[in-house]
Amino acid sequence: MDSAEYERKIAHRFAAFDQDGNGYIDRADFNAAAARLLTEFGTTARCDRGQALYTGAEAFWQGMAGIADVDGDQRVTREEFVGGAVKRLRDNPDRFAEIARPFLRAALAVAAGSDPEGAAPASAPVAAVERALRVLGAADDIASVAARSLDTDQDGRIAEPDAVAAFSAYFTVIEPDA
Ligand code: CA
Ligand code: CA
Repeated sequence: MDSAEYERKIAHRFAAFDQDGNGYIDRADFNAAAARLLTEFGTTARCDRGQALYTGAEAFWQGMAGIADVDGDQRVTREEFVGGAVKRLRDNPDRFAEIARPFLRAALAVAAGSDPEGAAPASAPVAAVERALRVLGAADDIASVAARSLDTDQDGRIAEPDAVAAFSAYFTVIEPDA
């Protein structure tokens, strides 16, 4: 992969986190992502599902900051993202899965309209996950293809382990286009 392609892929991943587009990743971006999901699925911030989503977003931000905010200013710049997040996460993809899991679990529950404290792993219909990806900024065609590819057992729903694995792979494995 040439450096231009690598830069483009990094830019897409940075933009996915920089939800308000101000050029750095901080807590506000994670809160914005949570708010967009709640609005899209008509869920309030006060209910259990809403609170779980904000709690997951905060944990995700804390994990991201711990990995990537090298100078400790509570902002992850693009340089910190490339140098810290991408390199360290590539070396330890399980860590990224763990910091992202509570948010993804809660997001699936919001998309599915189910109870996040339920005994079964969270899952959501493919169409709901596609809506979630769109509201978080994915292009229509990418959201559609990604959501369908996440339904690994083709039962029409996306389960938490598949969502976590795919999310982790997207942000930690930067490969040439097939
Ligand atoms: Ca931002
Ligand atoms: Ca920083």
